[in-house]
Amino acid sequence: MQSITILGATGSIGVSTLDVIARHPDRYIVYALSAHSRVEELAAQCRQFRPKRAVVGSAAAADQLAALLRAMHLDTQVEWGEAALCDIASNTETDAVMAAIVGAAGLAPTLAAARAGKKVLLANKEALVMSGQLFMDAVRDAGATLLPIDSEHNAVFQCLPANYRRSLAPAGVTKILLTASGGPFLKRAVETLDAVTPDEACKHPKWVMGRKISVDSATMMNKGLEVIEAHWLFGAPADHIEVVIHPQSVVHSMVSYNDGSVLAELGNPDMRTPIAQALAYPDRIESGVAQLDLTQVGTLQFEKPDFNRFPCLALAYDALRAGGTAPALLNAANEVAVQAFLDERIGFRQIDRVIAAVMDALPHGPAPSIEAVLAQDAAARAAAERIIAAGALPMTASA
Ligand code: NDP
Ligand code: MG
Repeated sequence: MQSITILGATGSIGVSTLDVIARHPDRYIVYALSAHSRVEELAAQCRQFRPKRAVVGSAAAADQLAALLRAMHLDTQVEWGEAALCDIASNTETDAVMAAIVGAAGLAPTLAAARAGKKVLLANKEALVMSGQLFMDAVRDAGATLLPIDSEHNAVFQCLPANYRRSLAPAGVTKILLTASGGPFLKRAVETLDAVTPDEACKHPKWVMGRKISVDSATMMNKGLEVIEAHWLFGAPADHIEVVIHPQSVVHSMVSYNDGSVLAELGNPDMRTPIAQALAYPDRIESGVAQLDLTQVGTLQFEKPDFNRFPCLALAYDALRAGGTAPALLNAANEVAVQAFLDERIGFRQIDRVIAAVMDALPHGPAPSIEAVLAQDAAARAAAERIIAAGALPMTASA
């Protein structure tokens, strides 16, 4: 029996994780669940999965949850705040932690799980993008097991040799090829993108996801963050990570070897596959995902990304090459810009302008500690808010 904590249980990844867990009551028990404000959803999950502990984002949300659980005669312990999140992620009573909080808010509890030597199932890419080397050092020093949930990285993980040691050359790997669907605006005329609404940007053609990552997919910042994520997970330099547009989202990513072989992982686009792969690793379990029928798919297409259409992808490569705190600045500016777009305070094509302006305005340097990273994160958020409030951004993207 494995005891599991799910950080971000009410989100898209959290719900898919519970769906897989529910199929295997003989293998998994839920130790703790967290949500931020969707208290009723969390209460329903508590009724079904009977966790020992449940954590929410505020005292008011905790009171509300406690009342709902009392009415259900459940004795789940209700807590709130970051310290409680870190505790359910690192407590001796949990074996594995699904890190599925969205954004920088996931950093502290994900790091706590790594420092406690847990099996960390990493969906929250922002945490790794921000803290890079520091996070990987924590994983190594504590002997934690880090398993990627992001479908591309999970695919790469499956295509690498079992004894892979975060260095391409000894394994004969020449390239990591990350596939990208291209999102909802792959073929839309660039000049019409100024007018897209949040709902249009969130309507992903292949994946059903939370709103922040859906906007990231539309700008392709998601792929940019994934390039940085791949760098840290697999020890791959930027020049050895290539993005390939693949609209069908059937090939989830590939690894190129020096003998000419290219290994790929294929499947229907459903996050329950990587979740089940990581939960059960090295075993295999049923995920509820239908078997892939390639004769139904018919055609698989691949093309190079257009960096002019997707300037966020170029900004992410630049941040990776700059190193140090640059990816943390990029991530923070992106989070603020995406929220401003979702709140209809800026247009879609201004997202990359905000990020570029923050990267220009703030110096980046080495990232010696998590405190230094968090200070840069705060500075970038403040700068992004200032730039948005000043309203001086041109509508049209730079490139
Ligand atoms: P969702 O927006 O669907 O869910 C986010 C979860 O985090 C919810 O449980 C939410 O609680 C909680 N949360 C939000 N803000 C905070 C906060 N400030 N503090 C604590 N908890 C918070 O996101 P997704 O499930 O789509 O994505 C989660 C992570 O996984 C992201 O980092 C994303 O990049 C990554 N990912 C997602 C994929 C997907 O298919 N969805 C694919 C690959 C990676 P509440 O419900 O109460 O708001
Ligand atoms: Mg992905």
